[in-house]
Amino acid sequence: ATPSAVLAAIGPAAKKGILIKSGRYLEICKNISVIVFDKTGTLTSGEMNISSIIPEKGISEEELLSVATAAERKSPHPIAKAIIKEANNHGIVYSGPVTGRHIPGKGALDTIQGSPVIVGNRDFLHENSISIPDAALDSKSNINHYETEVMVARDGQYIGKIMVADTLRHDTKNALVSLRKLGYNKIAMITGDNQNVAGTIAKELDIPESMTFAGFLPGQKEEYIAKLQDNGEVVCFVGDGTNDGPALVRADLGIGMGSRENTLALESSGVILMQEGLSSLPSFLSLGNLTSRTIK
Ligand code: ADP
Ligand code: MG
Repeated sequence: ATPSAVLAAIGPAAKKGILIKSGRYLEICKNISVIVFDKTGTLTSGEMNISSIIPEKGISEEELLSVATAAERKSPHPIAKAIIKEANNHGIVYSGPVTGRHIPGKGALDTIQGSPVIVGNRDFLHENSISIPDAALDSKSNINHYETEVMVARDGQYIGKIMVADTLRHDTKNALVSLRKLGYNKIAMITGDNQNVAGTIAKELDIPESMTFAGFLPGQKEEYIAKLQDNGEVVCFVGDGTNDGPALVRADLGIGMGSRENTLALESSGVILMQEGLSSLPSFLSLGNLTSRTIK
């Protein structure tokens, strides 16, 4: 690549808040054959809100929220942040010692006032031998658009769930339309969240079912990228760094969602979008295509 062609792209990119770690990430744009998106914090804002609190009989909403908050204190996940924010709004503060940890792609656990607490998705509770009542598993009545269920157990007993709602970023739909116009027609979504939420969002974004993958752990996201590469695909992965660092590193082009609050993706990505939203993504890819043309 001629340094001048790369330099010519760096300026306009910087104006749009696009950080490019190396000129080779501009050159690779024309070869990208598939773009894989993470869901939470990438296609969606990741600024989640609590939409409902559904305790079991004998447990109050406040108690459920306070138990969940205590266990989530160490987790960097947007779900944890939403739960903690909601607890703060209710004036709930838990200041006991943090002894637990979070399990990427699953949830968090801790011992709260002598009781083991598990917070996370249903697989995580099942793995820990917690049985979930049928009524709580009835996803049709409880999982609506973009709502992720966060289940809570204490002392080996299911005590309720907290529904966490996310929204698409304001420009996600348009960004995907622009990508397709640029010729990037193969678009996939990969998420650790459940099929229900994934399917709803995929439909909204015209991502086919065959390109939508739910319930993937961080390692599986990376494996999927590697499998695509084995099949000869040149992969661009776009993620926010939460539970997708390995996938960002593995991809031929890892693009991270950056912002003042989120520095997780900085290390793992070749390119970082500093502006809120995804509209600078098509801008970057077309700059990359222009650069290659100039080089030829
Ligand atoms: P995504 O791939 O959409 O970014 P993650 O891999 O980060 O999602 O998480 C996958 C799922 O694991 C979440 O949808 C949630 O059900 C569960 N989970 C992960 N971290 C937490 C947490 N700290 N608290 C509760 N649930 C969690
Ligand atoms: Mg994410």
